[in-house]
Amino acid sequence: MINKKIEKIINEQINAELWSAYLYLSMSAWLEGQNLPGFANWMRIQWQEETAHAMKFFDYLNERGGTVKLTPIAKVPTEWKDVVEVFEETLKHERIVTDLIHKIADLAMEEKDHATYQMNQWFVEEQVEEEASAEAILEQVKMVAGHGHGTLMIDRTLAERTFTDPTKE
Ligand code: MG
Repeated sequence: MINKKIEKIINEQINAELWSAYLYLSMSAWLEGQNLPGFANWMRIQWQEETAHAMKFFDYLNERGGTVKLTPIAKVPTEWKDVVEVFEETLKHERIVTDLIHKIADLAMEEKDHATYQMNQWFVEEQVEEEASAEAILEQVKMVAGHGHGTLMIDRTLAERTFTDPTKE
């Protein structure tokens, strides 16, 4: 049977990952409205990735004999000033998620839960990638500073992203 403190923090993380999914889906909707289908595609794939993250914790908690308890997902923003603001918020959000993942590692260590510590290490690495990809796009959108031509070039590149479940790689 899984430790209650670990069960609680994993349930909180399932909610946080689903909130992330909801945030990126909202960004995708806004980007569609801005006629930036490539950016919208990129965010829609983020939504799928975050859902997969939530499911990795979900499946793990079940596997350990814990109880998954889904809680309400808080509302997400629906409007942004421009794409720079969208990616600033994405990066800021991923840094918050990294802190949450590190807190799970700290608690697993404290509670001597080696299995949870080990499973969570996958997320520690995943967050390095999440921050790096958000930062890379942020740098690009800052570089073109809202100029139509540059923005459309980035949009075309982001249109090429396809979904592969990161948790199955
Ligand atoms: Mg995530």
